[in-house]
Amino acid sequence: MSAGRWLETDGTRWLFDAGADCLDFTTGPDADLAGWLCTRFPRLDPAEVGERELVDARSLRDAIGRMAVAAADGDRADPDDVDTVNLFAATPDVPPALPGGRRHAGAARIRVAQALSSLARDAVAVFADTGSGRLRRCAAADCRRVFHDESRTINRRWCSMQRCGNRAKVRAYRERAGLAERDGHF
Ligand SMILES: [Zn+2]
Repeated sequence: MSAGRWLETDGTRWLFDAGADCLDFTTGPDADLAGWLCTRFPRLDPAEVGERELVDARSLRDAIGRMAVAAADGDRADPDDVDTVNLFAATPDVPPALPGGRRHAGAARIRVAQALSSLARDAVAVFADTGSGRLRRCAAADCRRVFHDESRTINRRWCSMQRCGNRAKVRAYRERAGLAERDGHF
């Protein structure tokens, strides 16, 4: 499950739900990296996300991004990228917790390394299952963003129905209308 990420292209803001936390992590501009981590992990202290932590975050993010493209295109992942993901996944992650209790188990604050470990473990789960065909590219030729199809029937086609899905519908409508006009039925 993922919450998606607000992106801005051509002056419009739109939500891209890549279908997995580890993929949401790879979308969006570099300047938003620290902000996204703190939003996704509310117990992360923004003051703790320093330059050294961002170097780590970028290296994990870029490895996951390259692996996603390779998987969507049916290529083998670069062993160096696999090593990077495994390395981050091997450290302690953010422990899962249910809401509704009276006490806070564990530390109130989490460290950046724990957040990166959680994202790396999500990547391990997503990339362990590349044979399912769920990692694909948006069907729009001018988009080709990679997403993880979480639908039961594995029939998601677009990065976003509001964006590429609608553009394709409009294009198909215009083509049909244009044909009808030429045939004299318009
Ligand atoms: Zn798209």
